[in-house]
Amino acid sequence: MSSVDVIIVGAGHNGLVAAAYLAKAGRKVLVLERNATPGGQLAAGMLGPGFDAPALHPGGQLRPDIVRELDLARHGLMPAVAAEAPYVSLLPDGGTLRLTARGDDAATIEAIRKLSSRDAARWPEFVAFMNAAAGWVDAVYRTPMPRMERSAILANGLPLASLLLKLRGLGRKDMFRVIRSLSMSAQEFTDDWFEAEPLKAAIGALAIHGVTLGSYSAGTGYTLMHNWLNRGGLAHSRSGGASITHALIAALKASGGEARTSALVARILVDKQRVTGVQLASGEQVLAQQVLSAADPRHTLLGLVGAPELPPEFVWHAQSIRMRGSVAKVHLLTDGNHGLPEGTLVVAPTLKYLEQAYDASKYGEISRAPYLEVTASGAVVSIHFQFASYRLKHGDWASERATLEARAVDTLAAYAPALKGSIREVRSITPLDLEQQWGLTEGDLNHGQLILDQALFMRPMPGWSDHRTPVDGLLLCGSGVHGGGGVSGAAGRNAARVALGR
Ligand SMILES: Cc1cc2nc3c(=O)[nH]c(=O)nc-3n(C[C@H](O)[C@H](O)[C@H](O)COP(=O)(O)OP(=O)(O)OC[C@H]3O[C@@H](n4cnc5c(N)ncnc54)[C@H](O)[C@@H]3O)c2cc1C
Repeated sequence: MSSVDVIIVGAGHNGLVAAAYLAKAGRKVLVLERNATPGGQLAAGMLGPGFDAPALHPGGQLRPDIVRELDLARHGLMPAVAAEAPYVSLLPDGGTLRLTARGDDAATIEAIRKLSSRDAARWPEFVAFMNAAAGWVDAVYRTPMPRMERSAILANGLPLASLLLKLRGLGRKDMFRVIRSLSMSAQEFTDDWFEAEPLKAAIGALAIHGVTLGSYSAGTGYTLMHNWLNRGGLAHSRSGGASITHALIAALKASGGEARTSALVARILVDKQRVTGVQLASGEQVLAQQVLSAADPRHTLLGLVGAPELPPEFVWHAQSIRMRGSVAKVHLLTDGNHGLPEGTLVVAPTLKYLEQAYDASKYGEISRAPYLEVTASGAVVSIHFQFASYRLKHGDWASERATLEARAVDTLAAYAPALKGSIREVRSITPLDLEQQWGLTEGDLNHGQLILDQALFMRPMPGWSDHRTPVDGLLLCGSGVHGGGGVSGAAGRNAARVALGR
């Protein structure tokens, strides 16, 4: 039995961010990761020989304050420049709509003008609004949420009041626009701005990326702002998650911390409502005064702590966190002659197409005409596939994997005639694989659906939004808490500050 000051469960980017801050503050930190490779959803090298591509999330960028405070550039972090990267909608007539998230990009404005001169004229204002809205969401995520206790009116009110002031600071017009847009559907939001369907659908795709919602679902205005913020625009940045993971581990080690892989935490140890350490699947116990879990809240609280250690009402809330994974990945190892253009490509021809793709998830099915987001890394073509239900109504993921792969390939090949002939091998990751290999309950990549009723002081659940739990010394620091999901590190940074009492 060994002991440290702080144990972090999970070496995803949020766990590593929290670990690096705590180690920098002088704590003896140990990170325990179940997989053989650190990085969580950003981990590299998970696909096997020949597949030299990220298994899950192709890009990602940390908040600039984290990069600065942890000195990550010195530790090897590659800079991410997403606003310049092309986001390309593949169109049914064989053409493309190529966008960048820059309001002054002449090529983007010209591409939009071919569809609508009115939309082209609005593009600079749209980009400026999205940057302002995302900037405000960023300020929200950077602010640890109060628990809204009755007895702490000032402590509850001050952070929220400062966010309202920041919102007011956007100016009257944008303030109202942001408030309205948060609860709007992608369809309503894009209708407000544009008239050309391919443009509205390309933006609508980003609004439903990673969530089990359709383009007509209320609240996808919020997920659009969230995804725009985390990408720094529309497309994935080229930096890649491997660089984030390496830099964070280097920063952790430089401050004396340690990260152990192939170390599955089986239990979080609790004595008289106080955390005492963890027990690994191997039986080894490690003691600590604090445990920060970057695994999802359901897995942490109900799986690792266990209901008997928690108040009944809290257990009920934890059981009610909505986890609804419906994202799959299909990777194609090609001979390189796939014929796809460079950039982040989307198959999202119309808003109605996106909504119909989502319909499958309501009925436990795999979309016949899915929304796809495609990135190519050398000879590997990686397809993000929505929607593929975690719980299938007919069959199971052992029997339906081939259906998923065929639908991904057939859909993309309709836009890239050379694709099928270039494929040498296929590897797919189903929502069940996300649960079994990455520990994501129900395959939910954000550790809990990113929806308005699970946001702010309701994330992960009402009244428990300040990273603490009913178990003293046990905090949550992954994507399932306020500041997450997606890649930014905000949840890990906020949790570390709470753990340090700052
Ligand atoms: C296909 C796909 C596309 C995505 N696209 C985007 C996007 O466009 N934009 C965006 O911002 N985000 C996107 N995301 C989401 C984003 O990648 C995640 O929200 C983010 O990476 C989560 O980071 P994390 O550090 O909070 O958790 P994770 O990366 O999930 O890390 C948690 C870690 O905990 C470990 N763990 C779990 N249980 C245990 C245990 N019992 N013992 C030890 N270790 C444990 C896991 O193995 C994992 O390493 C995407 C995700 C996927 C899968």
